[in-house]
Amino acid sequence: MGHRRFGGGADTTHPRRLYRPLSAHSACGTVRSRSSREGHGNGYATYSARQQRRSAHDGRDPGRRGRRWAMKAPGAAEFVPEGADLARLRQAACHCRGCDLYQHATQTVFGAGPADADVVVIGEQPGDQEDVVGQPFVGPAGRLLDRALAEADIDRDAVYVTNAVKHFKFVERGKRRIHKTPGRTEVVACSAWLDAELDLLRPRLVVCLGAIAAQAVLGPSFKVSAQRGEVIEADGYRVVATVHPSAVLRAPDRAEAYAAFVADLRVVRAQLGKSAAAR
Ligand code: SF4
Repeated sequence: MGHRRFGGGADTTHPRRLYRPLSAHSACGTVRSRSSREGHGNGYATYSARQQRRSAHDGRDPGRRGRRWAMKAPGAAEFVPEGADLARLRQAACHCRGCDLYQHATQTVFGAGPADADVVVIGEQPGDQEDVVGQPFVGPAGRLLDRALAEADIDRDAVYVTNAVKHFKFVERGKRRIHKTPGRTEVVACSAWLDAELDLLRPRLVVCLGAIAAQAVLGPSFKVSAQRGEVIEADGYRVVATVHPSAVLRAPDRAEAYAAFVADLRVVRAQLGKSAAAR
């Protein structure tokens, strides 16, 4: 199928006053000053073994692709420590300079949840509130996700949530920071972190929220609109793609969009029930 496993937040309309020092919950500890965000001096990454493995899934030539990446973004691979557990990965990700997004965001927002999670939910990128707090899915979209998971009878405490891209990409409009969709270069640059998370977690199901997450995992030609709510076998995982909860919040008929979102999550719940019965 050519599916790769590897791209939510879109809490985009919060005023600039939220751009303030981190809470005690931040994995990255302290807010870096603007000057410390500049001049990382790490150079561009060489093409790693991990990246070569991913290219093998794509059936593409890794050398050519590596050179193309090197021109656009160094990629996160050189910042991912070998053999690290989740806690060490999270710390290491605080220092990632794999693409330019770290320069303007407050901090890296790494995944969160139990190391033995049954389900990994992948969004697009942290939103404004997540960027400030340093935790994924803590804004309005995250609250909607929590509600929908509960309605679908999925134990939120058994879910690990993360994003395809670990830094907030935005444009400033006056005092507001408006979400900007990450490009393919940034998704690919950041994929080493998602790779490492999934390698450690080995979840029973992967849930992709929105096109960026789905394409990061299932390949750039995947269309959520065509295959949402289906169970797809890809790269050793069962994957279900659905819309991002921020799309539900923006939908003209929010009740209808929410019901469809919960219906997709019920597919996930049914799969969890099946795999529990098979064990
Ligand atoms: S978005 Fe990903 S690759 Fe880019 S700097 Fe942040 S953690 Fe690194």
